[in-house]
Amino acid sequence: MTPTDASPPGLPESAQRPVLFTDLDDTLFQTARKMTEPVCASRLAAEATNGHHSYMTVSQAAMTAWLLKATCLVPVTARSTEALSRCRIPFDSWKIASNGAVILSPDGKIERDWSHHISRLSGEAEAGLEALNAETAKHNAVERFRHWIVREEGRPIYFCVKSNGEEAWLDDLEGFLRTLAGEQFVYHRNGNNLSFTPQGISKRAAVAHLIDIRSEIRHGIILAMGDSLTDLPFMQLANMMMIPPASQVASAIGKE
Ligand SMILES: [Mg+2]
Repeated sequence: MTPTDASPPGLPESAQRPVLFTDLDDTLFQTARKMTEPVCASRLAAEATNGHHSYMTVSQAAMTAWLLKATCLVPVTARSTEALSRCRIPFDSWKIASNGAVILSPDGKIERDWSHHISRLSGEAEAGLEALNAETAKHNAVERFRHWIVREEGRPIYFCVKSNGEEAWLDDLEGFLRTLAGEQFVYHRNGNNLSFTPQGISKRAAVAHLIDIRSEIRHGIILAMGDSLTDLPFMQLANMMMIPPASQVASAIGKE
């Protein structure tokens, strides 16, 4: 079946481009300290409120420019909608933020059916998220960590922790936080990120919902790209998956 045959009749040519669901951080760009080449202001990818901005390499910038033309590029990110708004890449289609808690339409509106669904899950997880945050605070007397609950529309979505020094400091928190989180939360650890997301809120669930409600996506070619093990579930909804060569997924494969 050719791409044209796979697309419903009557759609504009742009709708027939493959849809590429892509993670952002450590896939399309990374913070300056992870750059393998000098940072360049013209390749600024995302501004950070703490000044630790993210940049693209020369090859990432070239690839992103090509992807913006060749595909319908849909970010699928743990970034909140606020943090996503600080990204400089001109995404002009759907967007998925906050680990799948928010789906934004091409004109920037929140997808309401999904928002109502997430609202219920958020309510069920609120006490657990507050407990994770409070316990971390008890172990942070000398501020080795920064930690917070990511919120959307005033609702708690997921809990995350970052080290203010060595990434390995997160080892001191991981064990008891995982015990406290139990089965109610999905654990994620990659680099300086440790997070706990309520079961049911996920990048995969959001991508699946978007595919379900948009026939032009469902009937077309779907590609996916990401660096983390926790990206794999949403990537497996695609016809083809892509991973950065230096990534958590690539390292895991290399261990086999
Ligand atoms: Mg990533």
